[in-house]
Amino acid sequence: MTAASADLVPIRRVPVPLDKPIPTGSTNAYLVGDDGALLLDPPGRTAELDEAVDERDVEHLALTHTHPDHVGGVAAYAEETGATVWCRRGREDRFAEFTGIEPDRTFVEGSTLPVAGGLDVLDVPGHAPDHVAFEADFGTVCGDVAIGQGSIAIGAPDGDVRAYLVALRRLYARDPPRLFPGHGPVIEDPRATCERLLRRRLDRERDVLAAVEAGAGDVESVVDAVYDRDLSGMRRFARATVVAHLETLAAHRRVRYDREAETVAPV
Ligand SMILES: [Zn+2]
Repeated sequence: MTAASADLVPIRRVPVPLDKPIPTGSTNAYLVGDDGALLLDPPGRTAELDEAVDERDVEHLALTHTHPDHVGGVAAYAEETGATVWCRRGREDRFAEFTGIEPDRTFVEGSTLPVAGGLDVLDVPGHAPDHVAFEADFGTVCGDVAIGQGSIAIGAPDGDVRAYLVALRRLYARDPPRLFPGHGPVIEDPRATCERLLRRRLDRERDVLAAVEAGAGDVESVVDAVYDRDLSGMRRFARATVVAHLETLAAHRRVRYDREAETVAPV
């Protein structure tokens, strides 16, 4: 697809800068459709997002997942637009806890939201337990399942490495024309990106397993072995990633992991 025809796609990305340790320093809100538009993942209010919302008749509001860097504008925009607020069925409590408001309606995998000719809901947990993607013929809004550069955080307790690998494989198999991610620019090579992220995750898993087999006996030693660079400020994330991988490896009986004592051993 050429750049000119890509411009006709009925979706607008509005990056919202946030003062949080997140990839690219901003989170993307999206507006899908013109009349009766859907506002996705408003992370906060900015003049640009206010303007983009004002330009459209926003009738629906939804989230790819309830992480703090995706939800800060939900209550304000819901009130201002009077939009129908959607949530993954079964995740209403979590939605209310993170956004401060109750959803109006729920969807499940396979539901179609009535915007831009129909947006289909796909369950893609892993980065977060309630993570969904929204599919249309012009592409898929994938939230934090994929990112154009760097990698996606899969950290305990929210992250589930096994589920995340399934989510990436599902996106790969569905072969969307482009991915609209939660952070950074639109991804024009979805399959290559999914492959890169899969490889990265499997490499990380292999590193964690190798560290345990080489004698790292607790979570901290595995973190030190896997991340040989200075982790100042990022250690909490590195640790959460290592724990998520240890949970997966333990579930596959490839390591012994004592969650309470935070000790590990080879099988
Ligand atoms: Zn997230």
